[in-house]
Amino acid sequence: MMTWVPFDEQYAAAETDELRVLVVGAGVAGMTIAQLLRRQGRHPVLIERSRDPETLTDDDHAGYMLALMPMVDPVLDALGVREDYRARSVAIDRFAFHAHTGKVIRQDRLGSLLARYGEYRGIARGELITVLSGAQCSATFDSSLDAIADAESGPAQVQVTTGVHSEEKDLHEAEFDLVIIADGLGSHTRTLVPGGESEGSVDTAWGGWVAWAPADADSNQVDELWGEGFFLGAYPVKDRIGIFLGCPDSREPLGARRFAAEVRSKLTTLTPRIETALTAVAEADGPYFWALRDFRSSQWATANTVLLGDAAAGFLPTAGIGAGMSMESARMLAAALDSTSPAQLPAALRRYESAQRPRVERAQTASRQLARLMFYLPGALVGLRGFLFLLVSIKTALAPIIDLLKRPANPQDVENPSLRMW
Ligand SMILES: Cc1cc2nc3c(=O)[nH]c(=O)nc-3n(C[C@H](O)[C@H](O)[C@H](O)COP(=O)(O)OP(=O)(O)OC[C@H]3O[C@@H](n4cnc5c(N)ncnc54)[C@H](O)[C@@H]3O)c2cc1C
Repeated sequence: MMTWVPFDEQYAAAETDELRVLVVGAGVAGMTIAQLLRRQGRHPVLIERSRDPETLTDDDHAGYMLALMPMVDPVLDALGVREDYRARSVAIDRFAFHAHTGKVIRQDRLGSLLARYGEYRGIARGELITVLSGAQCSATFDSSLDAIADAESGPAQVQVTTGVHSEEKDLHEAEFDLVIIADGLGSHTRTLVPGGESEGSVDTAWGGWVAWAPADADSNQVDELWGEGFFLGAYPVKDRIGIFLGCPDSREPLGARRFAAEVRSKLTTLTPRIETALTAVAEADGPYFWALRDFRSSQWATANTVLLGDAAAGFLPTAGIGAGMSMESARMLAAALDSTSPAQLPAALRRYESAQRPRVERAQTASRQLARLMFYLPGALVGLRGFLFLLVSIKTALAPIIDLLKRPANPQDVENPSLRMW
């Protein structure tokens, strides 16, 4: 459960810790690391720009759906929230691929394929945040980090503003041994530290509207439909289905309702799920349009700051792996920080970055490769894409991700060497 605690109150508790930690952003990554550090007995200060502890979104959108891969299982176990996660999510097994006409051309059992590595489940982002917050999670909302001095050595001097959305803002000066920057894909905070600049980010020039449809009997089935100039996906979560209707950015001004009608007119086969999905988008009240772009930072850690989650490497949602990797990274960072003193911090951050960054960038590269097939196919080859889907199984398409699951992240690789007895 999230509790809104004033910044000064959180800071007073953190000041008694040997390692004083500030976490910026209470999304998937920030929430996970803050809660893992609390289980180690630390008192990290968690700040979040959003004013809404329920949705934790600032952009006026109604959240979205996540399909989570098995790498989240050990993280949920470490937080002691696996049962709550199961209760608030649904198991996903089948993937149905539709041709540009709407006809189902292929069905794969992705859940069964991944079962040897763990669970594959669908959950709404807001529900995941609730799960991660556990029985108790303190955060200061309506807040952001405005300045970091001395980001390259010694403790970081920071300026935090509370009341960012109101007329009466308060400025707090504070000192932290470590600032964890987890404010998402559009991170402003990373621009305050070395390494926060982009290293070859990808903009697909596509985006999409998210809408919610009522649940149906196929709660374990995802549907994806690839058309000429559009994409439609239906992803079940608990009690509803998240719908994503994608198009080139240039079509956004048409609006969700008219674009959904255009897509409907192009389909010759309408399954009940696709019909419901298009209706949900057409009837959604001002659905949010998500830009499909990613971000890769040139460096994750300095001596006293570290980028985490999408702020370090933001994902295209094509492989459905960004949240899973954010949670895995948070677990590895928590392991690196376990029993780490301020003097040991730079080495701990180096261990973390060298172990985790290659994994995350491999997953990001896999998402980019899938994006190429999805977004950049010339119109004349769209029919061929259906043919490609017939030939290429989901196992082949997701091979790099499955490889990461086969060789899971190992917290021992980053732990403080002085913790080892022999
Ligand atoms: C439509 C869509 C579908 C997706 N589908 C999947 C999927 O199926 N599977 C999957 O694994 N991943 C998926 N992803 C990706 C996944 O959501 C992200 O990779 C994941 O949320 C990253 O976690 P994060 O904590 O880094 O960022 P976020 O979860 O975005 O959290 C960032 C937090 O920082 C806050 N914030 C922003 N600026 C500031 C500031 N200046 N100060 C303080 N706080 C700030 C934000 O309000 C937010 O709460 C999807 C993403 C989208 C958009």
